[in-house]
Formats: sequence, structure tokens, C-alpha cells
Amino acid sequence: MEREVMIIGAGLSGLTAARVLKEAGLDVLVLDKGRSVGGRLATRRVGDGVADHGAQFFTARGERFWKQVEAWIDAGLVRVWGYGWSDGSLKRTRNDGHSRFVVNGGMNALAQYLARDLDVRLDVQVTSVQYTGVSWTLTDSQENIYNARYLVMTPPVPQSLAILNRQYVPLMPDDLAQLKRIEYAPCLCGIFRIAGDVALPEPGAIQNFNEPIYWLADNKAKGISEETIVTVHAEARYSRKHYDAPEEEVLAFMRTYVERYMREGASIVETQLKKWRYSTPLTTYPQDCFVAEGLPLVFAGDAFGGRGRVEGAYLSGLCAGQTLVATIKG
Ligand SMILES: Cc1cc2nc3c(=O)[nH]c(=O)nc-3n(C[C@H](O)[C@H](O)[C@H](O)COP(=O)(O)OP(=O)(O)OC[C@H]3O[C@@H](n4cnc5c(N)ncnc54)[C@H](O)[C@@H]3O)c2cc1C
Repeated sequence: MEREVMIIGAGLSGLTAARVLKEAGLDVLVLDKGRSVGGRLATRRVGDGVADHGAQFFTARGERFWKQVEAWIDAGLVRVWGYGWSDGSLKRTRNDGHSRFVVNGGMNALAQYLARDLDVRLDVQVTSVQYTGVSWTLTDSQENIYNARYLVMTPPVPQSLAILNRQYVPLMPDDLAQLKRIEYAPCLCGIFRIAGDVALPEPGAIQNFNEPIYWLADNKAKGISEETIVTVHAEARYSRKHYDAPEEEVLAFMRTYVERYMREGASIVETQLKKWRYSTPLTTYPQDCFVAEGLPLVFAGDAFGGRGRVEGAYLSGLCAGQTLVATIKG
């Protein structure tokens, strides 16, 4: 059956676009290779606890996103965690007045909320995208075929370009060049389950971009976990250099940072490593979404709009949805 619109990716941008299209009465199907919706809004069960291992919090700098965040707060979904982070020194945590928002239950709960009543198919890895001249044909890793009139691609751009069958998708050379310019930083993420307590400075995290390990956060202090689970993020240079290093080596290095904040008697009982090849965009495209010239194809995601991050992904999804509603409904 041919769908009106198909969206690849059930991360924040894909789900936001899908909601706009559905609310406009359009028929939309979202495909994602993951076992759950959310993409980089990722939360994992660890022992009896929970850890956010992708996005940790978000800010709202612009008015449009503020309004949306206020609605999520009213719905009991989102709350403020703090107004700044300690850099790990003896100085007090700096309050810069900007709210850092988190999602009750973990960041992934926001994606679950947005995916409610949408037609989303999980465990569908799209491997090839072709344009016939009137519609799109997508093939997944199980050789299933999906057809649609319009297509929105929201994976990190290098992943989107890798599945576009260029022989059958006549992207303009200038469009291709612009898209190829978009790059992302990798991020190695450690998850440490701890018996006992840690003493990360209030509100329960450290952020210091001068360190190879720039982020440590206590998911218990964050209010999403019963157990003490610390999320650790390595900065881009370290992550790139050690991306293929043995896991034990990376975890041992991260461990030296975690141990600084463990209270007496606390011990590490479990460690996990998650590798994000595309964590946050390093170069972005200035418009909120990217309409391919001469094709019913829109690219969206946090790399569009110049903001990056959760706010950028949301606004990009909004742009993709609204652009297609305007195109289809004329
Ligand atoms: C470690 C880390 C820390 C971060 N910290 C923060 C933070 O503190 N604050 C902040 O604001 N932002 C943070 N971010 C960034 C934030 O998570 C992203 O900007 C945002 O979630 C991106 O949403 P998206 O929809 O653009 O992309 P994604 O969430 O990546 O969604 C793309 C989706 O496409 C799917 N997909 C990819 N290829 C295929 C395919 N071939 N077939 C089917 N599906 C496919 C993926 O499974 C994924 O679900 C962080 C990200 C990471 C990884």
C-alpha cells in the first residue's frame, strides 16, 4: 500500500514531523531500525535503576521551543533539573539562569509520549531508498518494500546519504555537497552502576569541556533512578581517538573519574559502554530543514537550523512537517 508520507527515524525530529502531519489529517508511517522509539533520546534499565545515556538534559533558547516545553511541563512530562553545572573544582556550581530540563522517567519517555497514536514500525532498518519519478520505494534489511509519495529522512545525515540509492535518486550536485558538509562528533558513553552513594556536586553532575571526560551525572540525583547509576561522557577528541579501543581500556579510564566522587564504602558493581558514532553535529545547515531540489524529499534532524541538540531536532521536525503540509495541502 502506498503511504502519503513516510519518515525514516523515530527520534525527536521524526516524531515531531509525524505529529504535525497526522494533526493535519495526512497519512504518515514512521520507520525506525531501533527496538524502541527515541534515537538519541535514550534511556536504559541497568540493574534496578535507570540511566539516560544519550541526551542528558535540554535547554530552550528560543520562544517556539519554550512554548512547547511549557506544554510538556503542564502535561507532567518535563521538569527543571538545575540552572548550571559544577566544573568539578571546589568552586560552587555556577547558576547562569538557564533552565536545564529533564524528562520524568528518563529522556526516552518524551519520545514514547510523542509516539503515542502514531503509526510507527520498529526494528525496520531501511537499507535502500529509490525514487521512481512519482513515488519512493524503500527496502529494509528483510527485503520488505514500502512505498510513499513523500519522504522525510531524519537519521544523522551521513547515514541518510548512505542508504540513498544515488542511481535512482537524482539529488542535485549542490544539494549533495551541502549535505556532505555536515559532520558529527562521536561520543563514548560509560554507565556505572554503584552500590552506595556518589557525591557529585549539586544538582548531581559535572560538566568540564577541558577534560577528556567532560560529563558525569548521577541518575539518582537527577530523579530518574532508584539505584545510583552514573553516566559518563567522553569529549569528541578522546572519543574519536579511542572509538575502536578495547572497551575495558576506555571503561578503566572513565572509572578513574567516577572514583573521585564515590562516597566511602561505595563500590562499582557493573559497567557498560555505549558508542555513539554521531552524537551531536559539529557542522550544521542554516535552515531548519532541507528540501531537496526537484524531489518530494525533506531532510531533518538536529543538524538543521544551526542549533544542534534537542531544541534543534524539535524545530527541524516541525519545519519538515509544516513544509510537507503546505506542499501537500497547497
Ligand atoms: C551522548 C549524547 C549526549 C547528548 N547530550 C545532549 C544534551 O545534553 N542536550 C541536548 O540538547 N542534546 C544532547 N544530545 C543530542 C540530542 O540527543 C539530539 O540532538 C537529538 O536527540 C537528535 O534527534 P534526531 O531526531 O535529530 O536524531 P536521532 O535521535 O538520531 O533519530 C534518528 C533515528 O533514525 C533512526 N535510523 C537511522 N538510520 C536508520 C535506518 N537506516 N533505518 C531506519 N531507521 C534509522 C535511528 O534509529 C534514530 O532513532 C546528545 C546526544 C548524544 C548521543
